[in-house]
Amino acid sequence: MRSRLTAAGVLAAAAWALPYGLGGYTIHVVNIALIYALLAVGMGLAMGISGQINLAQVAFFGVGAYAVAIFTTQYGHGFWVSAALAVLTTVVVGMFVGIPALRMQSHYLGIVTLGLALGFINWVTNAHLTGGADGISGIPVPTLPGVDLSSEYLYYYLEVVVFGLALLFGLFVVHTSLGRRLRAMRDDALAAGAMGAEIPLLRMTAFLLASLYGGLAGVLYSGLIRYVAPETFSIGNMFILLAMVVIGGRRSLVGCVVGAIGLTLVREWLSDFSTYAQLGYGVVVVLMVVFAPTGLAGVPARVRDQFERRRGSRSSRAELRPFTPYDAVERPSSQPVLLSVEGVTKQFRGLRALDAVSLAVRQGEIRGVVGPNGSGKTTLFNVISGFYRASAGSVGFAGVDTTTSRPYTLSLAGLARTFQNLRLFGQLTVRENILVALDRTRTRAIWQYAIWQPGVLARERRLRGRADDILERFGLADFAEAAPASLAYGIQRRIEIARAMASRPRLLLLDEPAAGLNGEEVQQLIRIVRSIRDSGTTVVLIEHNMGLVMSLCEKVTVLSSGKVIAEGTPQEVVSTPEVVEAYLGDSDLGEIGLDTSPPNEQTGRAKEVSS
Ligand code: ADP
Ligand code: MG
Repeated sequence: MRSRLTAAGVLAAAAWALPYGLGGYTIHVVNIALIYALLAVGMGLAMGISGQINLAQVAFFGVGAYAVAIFTTQYGHGFWVSAALAVLTTVVVGMFVGIPALRMQSHYLGIVTLGLALGFINWVTNAHLTGGADGISGIPVPTLPGVDLSSEYLYYYLEVVVFGLALLFGLFVVHTSLGRRLRAMRDDALAAGAMGAEIPLLRMTAFLLASLYGGLAGVLYSGLIRYVAPETFSIGNMFILLAMVVIGGRRSLVGCVVGAIGLTLVREWLSDFSTYAQLGYGVVVVLMVVFAPTGLAGVPARVRDQFERRRGSRSSRAELRPFTPYDAVERPSSQPVLLSVEGVTKQFRGLRALDAVSLAVRQGEIRGVVGPNGSGKTTLFNVISGFYRASAGSVGFAGVDTTTSRPYTLSLAGLARTFQNLRLFGQLTVRENILVALDRTRTRAIWQYAIWQPGVLARERRLRGRADDILERFGLADFAEAAPASLAYGIQRRIEIARAMASRPRLLLLDEPAAGLNGEEVQQLIRIVRSIRDSGTTVVLIEHNMGLVMSLCEKVTVLSSGKVIAEGTPQEVVSTPEVVEAYLGDSDLGEIGLDTSPPNEQTGRAKEVSS
């Protein structure tokens, strides 16, 4: 922390002293570079942090710049009033550009935003309001008492201050609640939704941030050049901007800044060979995407990784420590129904994955759901947790009809789940994975970022304290800073359960939690699940393996081809003829074998492959 502050102080001092050594033209280039850096930070927030491919960033830049030009020259407002209106206009436009992101993702979103950017260029080139191809000149010099901003040297200081604040704000967003959610959404939108993140709102927020920075850059540009014309906002420049972000490293805002400043300087230096230079950028971008997808900013981490791998990394040597049980609570004698599924059918085109499934789970129960592969167990969880909408029937949770509820509402109402194929946030640390689930603030609370940052920080401190407790309890403290993918499979499974339990849900759905675990790990899992139940959380558990179900569940529901074929105590269901037949019909016969002993390592692994 102290070394960072020192570095920031040195950088600030250097930025302050810089103009003293520069000629008139060089300071102009530096001013342009800072504007691009601002644009790149906005682009990085949308693309790298939030995973929303946004090729409309130059259009945001253009809207900001043109809006200042129009408000000052045609409506006669002062520069600063126009600047405020321009940023506002850009943000509104940004939200509209973000609407397609609600429906589509990845390259489709790229194509749509690129199309919108093209539309913008077409419009400014042809419209009367924007002065057509000639653009708009005569934008007044921004006024500041006692400072002559027509001097590029003094304008530089205005830019440095705006840029410095904007970068700090961006970093603040990335490293606190909102940014963590955006990164979680980037890594796995589905899992983030199950942790209570409002994905549509977050996608809009990504575009809001991108357009905010685009608008600011546009304002600074029009105050600096005092003339706007269409070619500044061309697709060619969009490509340069994309190159800056990719080369610098889109997941790091500092990387984006380095890319932007570096490429602006290189471009200036190569201005006599601009055609070849364009080609050169193209080649470099392709090489970067293939060989260093995390850009220059990712290089230190890659070097560190290599180094650690050679020495045997700390986290791979660390041990998974034992789980500390939760305090048990007294269970009331009358246990109301917490989850009720009534006549749920789920149709996938011709396939009926669930067929009039009904079940009721009482508070404090550990319910097992078993059945051969493809019998609809995961589909049932997806319907209960709001990922799929039932084709018929209804779902009730905690006395409320939740048939049409979204995953995040269910999460807030106290439902948590794990996934059959682990869905951890891959680019987040283990601690951050837990923090995402712990964080129950609503997306609309982002006003705090604009007005009350200490509130955000205070919440952050509280959340971190609680995350440390959870890591400690689940024996994961040694892995807090590790990337989940670098850890053993059994540890990842444990992290997923810890993450699901972070919000202390009323109902926990576990989808094949023992798949891929060895015998010892399965025994630990049994202890963990019992403790979770005893602490007041109801558990529904999908398991392929009867042994685990036998030792954990009081009641088991058996699915076969989407239908409930039996329900009762484990002993009852294994002796039901239909159940025996269902398993006989399944090729897994020998392997499942209705074996009532706890699974050993081999069968555990075999299960994983078979599911
Ligand atoms: P289980 O978890 O019991 O192994 P699933 O619930 O995953 O089974 O799947 C039940 C059936 O539904 C399978 O035949 C599967 O192919 C089908 N299915 C599941 N999800 C989808 C989907 N999104 N689209 C089409 N078919 C699906
Ligand atoms: Mg399944």
